[in-house]
Amino acid sequence: MLSKWNSYYAALSDNHQHSFVVRTLLFLKTTNFGSTEGFELTTEMKLVISSAFVEITFGLKQDVLSIFKTIFVTPSSYSYTGRDVLYDGDVNTVTKRVNLSWPAVEKGFIITNDGLNIAIHEFSHCLIIENAKGSYFSKVFNDTDLNAWKELATKKIPLIREGKYTIFRDYGGTNLMELFAITLETFFEQPHEFYSYAPTFYRTTAKVLKQDPRNGKNPK
Ligand SMILES: [Zn+2]
Repeated sequence: MLSKWNSYYAALSDNHQHSFVVRTLLFLKTTNFGSTEGFELTTEMKLVISSAFVEITFGLKQDVLSIFKTIFVTPSSYSYTGRDVLYDGDVNTVTKRVNLSWPAVEKGFIITNDGLNIAIHEFSHCLIIENAKGSYFSKVFNDTDLNAWKELATKKIPLIREGKYTIFRDYGGTNLMELFAITLETFFEQPHEFYSYAPTFYRTTAKVLKQDPRNGKNPK
């Protein structure tokens, strides 16, 4: 199933595939999955979603989420009561839930190289939030590496807004939180294009995540 759905997984060496499977099962086991009433969330769907988390944390020690323990999956885009906006995914810090719309997750994995993957996007937000709340010993990221990323990213935001930095989609110009999520989507879906366009920013991102997906077999 993982080979069919996750091209990152499919490219890994046998050894890395083995540890990817172990991490995926651990994530599945330690996370609560829920879904809209009447919508059957299959094991395959849960695996696909979990694989996005394992992919982005493959180079890190962090192998499960500690604050966001519930993933809630909907059969279509959804909105919050009293708001007009439709979402395909969001990280809710009040309910401590990650919400994802299955069709959007599916599309993110079927189209492997357009820099759009909602599961990677939302889990990136989770990592930043959990990193900020973690104690010194339970940090997801190395402070120095993340600060170097932030410093560089801060300079890119005005350029993205002016349409002068085009490797990321426009939404990346929203703020650092969104730019981080979009950087990870691009990093995993278009690593070669990203590197050619912005080698320093690419390498700074690779340092934060302790992996380089350009080396498909051995990214770490
Ligand atoms: Zn976002």
